[in-house]
Amino acid sequence: MRPRLHLSPPSLVGGELATLSRTLTSGWIAPAGPVPEAFEAALCGATGFEHAAAVASGTAALHLAYRVLGVERGDEVWTQSLTFVATIAPAVQMGAKPRFLDVAPDSWTLDPEVLETQLRLAARRGKLPRAVVPVDLYGQPADLDVILEICGRWGVPVLCDSAEALGAHYRGRPVGKGAAMAAFSFNGNKIITAGGGGALCSDDPALIARARHLATQAKEAAPHYQHETTGYSYGLSSVLASVGLAQIGALRARVAARRLVFARYAEALSDLPGLTLMPEPGWAQATRWLTVLQLDPARFGATPEELRRELEAANIESRPVWKPLHMQPAFRGARCHGPGQAVRLFERGLCLPSGAMSSADQDRVIEIIRAVFRG
Ligand SMILES: *Cc1c(COP(=O)(O)O)cnc(C)c1O
Repeated sequence: MRPRLHLSPPSLVGGELATLSRTLTSGWIAPAGPVPEAFEAALCGATGFEHAAAVASGTAALHLAYRVLGVERGDEVWTQSLTFVATIAPAVQMGAKPRFLDVAPDSWTLDPEVLETQLRLAARRGKLPRAVVPVDLYGQPADLDVILEICGRWGVPVLCDSAEALGAHYRGRPVGKGAAMAAFSFNGNKIITAGGGGALCSDDPALIARARHLATQAKEAAPHYQHETTGYSYGLSSVLASVGLAQIGALRARVAARRLVFARYAEALSDLPGLTLMPEPGWAQATRWLTVLQLDPARFGATPEELRRELEAANIESRPVWKPLHMQPAFRGARCHGPGQAVRLFERGLCLPSGAMSSADQDRVIEIIRAVFRG
């Protein structure tokens, strides 16, 4: 059996041992001090945001954002149905009611038309959402300016879940920039990893100060442990931040490598009828965090699940597109507002190995896909 090809395995850039060793030698290993600060400064450089709080995970960053936005029991929080559960999980755990919207076929991200219709109806009902959360899916930026303009009409704040899209650009600026806040992840499968971690970014210093306060147990400035509210222990350890610090220097190269993987798939597969790859609208410079395809079984001659099994038999990991959240038992009874793109993309989609891989590795994937094709 040939070695397993994973979807998006963590890979080292080479400088991690040096930064780790400096951190350990310095003794500053707690979730505070010069290393997380240096990581946050590097994040501001990479994201274009003025302020960043490094935290324990992307999910923690989203949780803090929901607290900062004042999400309370009974509030609505809106996001696209086609996303990973972590986008909405913290809000739901806080007692918010999710509303799931469809995605646009040209970007697979939040459909602005659906958003506008739903906001107009919500305003009429007298119940606007506490936040709208577009997701920069698979490294593809959402159509943020349009979303911001629509939400601005009703004064609804926009939080970007950019966990999958560090390094992507929207109309020439880094992804998420312009939203009230954006959340990033440094989980092992993301384009840059700290071995685990996340960040909340904003241009508003008050929002990040509040998030930091909540991330460190909401301790007031008093020697006797004074708390006006309760917080979390969400700091990012300096040990992990040193790994992130070494990795973030390689972000541009990582984006270029993922885009190259996508380009090779596109070149090798685009002649197959019934097979298409995730589109990239004119306003987007995606990272291609994952290369994702769509199969039309009638023309391709096989379903995505049949292809997934063939790849698995060759020891190659592939995964269906995120199962839409309104179809998840965890959100029983929920629906997806819009024409049904999210379900279609799920039913026809498959994510291919997209991490640091040799062209020989990629040829293994391409060969199987071509062999499965039955036109
Ligand atoms: C990975 C991911 C998260 C969560 O990040 P963690 O660091 O794993 O907590 C949130 N949203 C999306 C869309 C993700 O892909």
